[in-house]
Formats: sequence, C-alpha cells, structure tokens
Amino acid sequence: MFSWTLGRLFGIPLRIHWTFWLLPFWVILSQGTLFSWSIAAFHVGLVLAMFVCVVLHELGHALAARALGVRTRDIALYPIGGVASLERIPEKPSEEFAIAVAGPAVNVAIAAMLFLGLQLGSLFVPGLLTENIAGAFLWMLMLLNVGMVLFNLVPAFPLDGGRMFRAFLAWPLGHLRATRVAAWVGTVLAIAGGLFGVFYLQNPFLLLIAFFVFSAAQQELLAVEYRARARRMFPFMDMPLTEVAQPEVSPTPFPQDGPSATRGTTVWTWDEENQHWRRQGA
Ligand code: ZN
Repeated sequence: MFSWTLGRLFGIPLRIHWTFWLLPFWVILSQGTLFSWSIAAFHVGLVLAMFVCVVLHELGHALAARALGVRTRDIALYPIGGVASLERIPEKPSEEFAIAVAGPAVNVAIAAMLFLGLQLGSLFVPGLLTENIAGAFLWMLMLLNVGMVLFNLVPAFPLDGGRMFRAFLAWPLGHLRATRVAAWVGTVLAIAGGLFGVFYLQNPFLLLIAFFVFSAAQQELLAVEYRARARRMFPFMDMPLTEVAQPEVSPTPFPQDGPSATRGTTVWTWDEENQHWRRQGA
C-alpha cells in the first residue's frame, strides 16, 4: 500500500514505501538545524548510499532463494530497512540458513571492498582517510555496512540472525518447536531492544524496529502453528500434485496416526518430529 515501484532488479520489482521518504526528511531536520546544511547533505547522501547497500543485501536473499527454487514477490524499502518478500520460506534448515546468510554476506563483501579500496586509495591520495570528504563518506559507509552485519546477526527472529538461529534449532527440534523457541527469543529481544532504545538511546528507530520484529515474530509463529495444525487435518496439503492426481495412490481422507491409515498399498504416517505426513510403501 502506498508504495512506488522504482523498477526491476533481476526481474524482481523494487518498491519504495511512502514512509521511506520520512527518513531523509528526518535526517535533514535533525542535522540541518543543529549543524549546517552541508553536514545534512552529507548525511542524506550517506543514508541513500546505505539504502543502495540495503537493496543489495535483499538481492542477496532473493538470489539465494532463486537458486533454491523460491521466487521473490518484491523487495520493499521502509525507513527501518528492506524486506524481500519470498513466496515461501523453505522448511529445510540448510535452505533457510543459506537464504538468511546470503544477505549479511553481501554487506561483508561491500565492507571488505570499501576497506581495501580505501587502504589502496590512501597510497595514491594523501590524506584520503584523514581530511578528504569522499574518504570520510566511504569510511562511514563501510562502518554502516559492518553495523548492518552485526545487527543482522542478533538472533531476533525473524531477522536474519534469528532465521539462522531457527535453522540451527530445527536440526534437533524440528521446524515447529524450533519456530516456537526462536519466535519467543525474538519477542523477548525485541521488547528488551525497544525499552533500551526508548529509555537509554532515546532513538525512535530502535522502537520501530522492535515493534516490527515483535509483530513479525508473532505473525510467523501463528502461521507455522496454523500450517502444522492444517497438515494434521488435511494430509493432502503435503502431497505433490502429481501424486494426488495418480488414481492408484488414494490415502484415506481422515488418516489416523500410526500405520493403520491405509488404503490400497500406500501408508501415510504422521511424523511428529518434522510435522508432516510421510508416505510409506508403494
Ligand atoms: Zn536480511
């Protein structure tokens, strides 16, 4: 809603939510009145450059997802960051981990390139790192990328670090229980971060991010709980369409737990650990 499509990257629409423009506006107001307009311009430029890095970060997620066969509906920019809307999140831990880690990996690469570029550049441009405005700009951009990596590694589900955390938990616990633990850890971290932002840093953005993490964690937990319940009731959900279409494979519409849920030669059993129906037999 109220977003503007900027264009397409690798076929993925890039949208900017209207609230995004509050960010440069806020930077100008807070910096321009306190210091000078040139400092404000420097910071607005930095914010815009940072958002180019945010787009590249989201593109990292989207292209990793594409490699695993998951489509991305769009990449949207908000004042607190970007969101790549994947059509689904793979339940396989290794796949979720690969998609989550691809975003911060992009920022590691950007920071490393800026750092090396500045070190190399300072050999040719004296004072690049100490008294050069372009050098200062690129140095700050590098620090912002490092900050973005650190922030994204916080295990606050559903931020990237939280997704990696859930992927780790899913190995021993299974998808549903891992989501429960990760979502509650994410919720506690969001509340703690929000309180820290308000009372210690007096930073409204941390509160916004905390609210976003809190509601996103609870929403995704609800979705996973709902899907787990639906799967129990409607085993057809997990079946590939080609199998459903095959007339000789006809599981009962209301299978029971255990191997008694049979008809013909196919046995469907409820896998409590992984929360899906498993087909055994022919
Ligand atoms: Zn990310």
